[in-house]
Amino acid sequence: MQAVQGLHHITAVASDPQANVDFYHHVLGQRLVKKTVNFDDPGTYHLYYGDEIGTPGTIMTFFPWRHMKRGRLGNGETAAVGYGIRPDSVDFWRKRLAAFNVAVGEVQTRFGAVVIPFEDPDGMRLELVTTTDPATIRPWHDGPIAEEHMLLGFHSVTLWLDEVDQTGQLLVDQLGYERVGQEGARTRYRGASDDVGLFVDLLHRPGEPSGRFGAGSIHHIAFRTVDDGEQQEYLAALRAAGQQVTPVQDRQYFHSIYFRSPGGVLFEIATDAPGFLYDEPLDELGTNLKLPVWYEQHRPRIEAALPVFELKEGEAGGVA
Ligand code: ZN
Repeated sequence: MQAVQGLHHITAVASDPQANVDFYHHVLGQRLVKKTVNFDDPGTYHLYYGDEIGTPGTIMTFFPWRHMKRGRLGNGETAAVGYGIRPDSVDFWRKRLAAFNVAVGEVQTRFGAVVIPFEDPDGMRLELVTTTDPATIRPWHDGPIAEEHMLLGFHSVTLWLDEVDQTGQLLVDQLGYERVGQEGARTRYRGASDDVGLFVDLLHRPGEPSGRFGAGSIHHIAFRTVDDGEQQEYLAALRAAGQQVTPVQDRQYFHSIYFRSPGGVLFEIATDAPGFLYDEPLDELGTNLKLPVWYEQHRPRIEAALPVFELKEGEAGGVA
């Protein structure tokens, strides 16, 4: 079985969709590549952001529930998402975040990289992490950020855990990750490819309280698999190892299986195919409300119930 190549997508909870779109699309320059609904709750959007086409390893997705109370971060959760940037882009991003009144935390050094911490409008923790690894993203040239400073897809995620050994074992034995470093309570694992989204960091916080789910919480992280056949191999291997894994779910743009890590974090394994061009051409990605076929007959009612939001026009290549 092939080792997992890295992260596929990350799914989190937001409150106000307009604030979410303004931040990810306009401030961070992540293209809204799909506008659809929560398949279990079609009165709620499911918004997908990424590079120009939503390449696996760049895909951040949100369920914006307008009245959702803010969560409280704790053990058993994905606590932070790191996006890669070029070392030359540190000043650009500090200025850009300041220009949009985004508070930036104390800049850190981690495994030799500069880390700039900040939060999204719902308090979700984000980081910009410098990297010199080759960028495999598809640059979004119609966005607000010049190519030299664009976010380079996911660099890493940080999981807060009461225990780290069992989760580390799962990453290595079942998903083919390699343990590549330790700094204090943080252990780093690397996926097996040269693409983006390679690193999973486990932060050992024994005895600390669990999180409370809400706006700003990360619901799950998804790992990449090439195709349905390989996903079946993971499914069989995980079940043989005693994991409780869901059957394959059709998520329209990928196929998914879910299981909970020993530390409590929800993991998914998602296929690269079919991707976001499956039901929209490249130049229209994210501009139409896409519904799965079983909701099409209810489209007028669904559209009427969803809150309206607007995409701000970007100033291509501008600083702010
Ligand atoms: Zn997912």
